[in-house]
Amino acid sequence: MTIYTGKSVFGGIAIGRLSVYRKDDSQVKRVHIDDPEAEIARYHEAKETAIEQLGVLYEKALKEVGEDGAGVFEAHQMMLEDGDYIDSVENIIRSESVNAEYAVAQTGDNFAQMFLDMEDEYFRGRAADMHDISERLINVLSGKASGGIQANEPVIVVADDLAPSETVQMDKDMILSFVTVHGSANSHTSILAKTMNIPAMIGCDIPLDDSVDGKMAIVDGFEGKVYVDPDAETMAAKQKIFDEEAEKKALLEQLRGKDNVTLDGQHINLYANIGNTKDLALVMKNDAGGIGLFRSEFIYLGSDHYPTEDEQFAIYKTVAQTLAGKKVIIRTLDIGADKQADYFELPKEENPAMGLRAIRICLTRPEVFKTQLRAILRASAFGKIAIMFPMIISLWEVQEIKKIVEEVKAELEADGIAYDKEIELGIMIETPAAVMVADELAKEVDFFSVGTNDLTQYTLAIDRQNDSLEKFYDSHQPAILKMLQMIVDAAHRHGAWAGICGELGADLTLTKEFLAMGFDELSVSPGRILPLRKIVLETDVSEYKKSKI
Ligand code: PEP
Ligand code: MG
Repeated sequence: MTIYTGKSVFGGIAIGRLSVYRKDDSQVKRVHIDDPEAEIARYHEAKETAIEQLGVLYEKALKEVGEDGAGVFEAHQMMLEDGDYIDSVENIIRSESVNAEYAVAQTGDNFAQMFLDMEDEYFRGRAADMHDISERLINVLSGKASGGIQANEPVIVVADDLAPSETVQMDKDMILSFVTVHGSANSHTSILAKTMNIPAMIGCDIPLDDSVDGKMAIVDGFEGKVYVDPDAETMAAKQKIFDEEAEKKALLEQLRGKDNVTLDGQHINLYANIGNTKDLALVMKNDAGGIGLFRSEFIYLGSDHYPTEDEQFAIYKTVAQTLAGKKVIIRTLDIGADKQADYFELPKEENPAMGLRAIRICLTRPEVFKTQLRAILRASAFGKIAIMFPMIISLWEVQEIKKIVEEVKAELEADGIAYDKEIELGIMIETPAAVMVADELAKEVDFFSVGTNDLTQYTLAIDRQNDSLEKFYDSHQPAILKMLQMIVDAAHRHGAWAGICGELGADLTLTKEFLAMGFDELSVSPGRILPLRKIVLETDVSEYKKSKI
């Protein structure tokens, strides 16, 4: 067994034979031509053909790997139309009286070098695209077909580097993994591998010759290793991981698009927790029914000043529009305790977890609060937004909040600015005090969402940040579970709905219990949605309740 290492660009295990992708490296010859203008016309004709080919590849990629993976071919079409590139080719043909193939090869090399010299890794990655379009043009000019892999079984493709057009022209069913000696993590090949959901490695020290070609191998995209001629022990260990991964993948595939309904017809909403707009892709990919917790304080933490109304509005609007009518619950800022932003200039406190944080800041600095509320309300005209307030302990806080919300609404009304007049208002239940007055609170709001991370901390009197107390920080503690039931019951008694957005919501060992308690929603990190859906679909809540008696 020989082990080669590289940099993983996408995880996963692939087991199969290696196929060394050999490029057709016949050199472009420099040939003198007598009629440069005719040669330039020949170049333009080839360019049009190349653009047409790319159009076909775009359509093919669109069907196979979607918009993200296909976009590269549109980009290549644009590169072929680039004025500087065209000027360079024409200039070489005219000034040196040389053939178009040579002028294109020369231009491709020069432009690729220019990209390679750039600081930015993204632009360095574009050098491969330059080579790719030039090679395509040369193939058209010289009437050569583009390369591919010859295999009659799915293989692990190993190559020096792979241009996107090379990867997309390969038959996807025949590829288990990509391993390249060169290439960048930002290359489109990496993007394609991710979209195709197959392990991929770059910068691998594997030789590209007969010593590996056709050999049995394992690519471990998690650890960035290729095992050629693996021994039985390695094979067994990797096969086990492979099987587990395959099971997870199959699960994801099967459950997408399904309703979250139990065997006995109980429905639950499975929403996602996010911290910023970058997480939206994962929300969509994992088929979340909405966003149950947008931790808006990350906007504040990522800024060196109070984010303006317009800055916030742009973000909330993007989220609302992306979710296209699915619910987006924005939690107002939860600054303080472990989440500090210098410009808030919060006083030094003996015990910040019990200090000036979250809603307490909002109610003592109404101008900061109102700016956020205005931004959220304005964005509510672009989707289905709900607002949620953290760290509530008392009824008066909720009443005060509602008064401020009404003031902001009236201001918007006066300014003629649109907002959702029916916008839902909810609170987080994350203090024991809120649990105890849940009935009173439920009369005031549309929903509760339990912040089990803080509820556990404040109920058990254990700092959630303190690693050494992990053994005592037990969210399964009966006190917490009893509180959860009290919270749902209080909500339902007063026509409100109840969910969980703390980490406990994603605890698969409690999903049945949460269903039995009657929770209407669980909001979890996007990757947990489909595993949760699996349990929901397999649960018979009435049977489960009977089994507990
Ligand atoms: C919680 O406390 O459970 C919660 C969801 O809020 P955060 O973790 O942001 O404090
Ligand atoms: Mg909390």
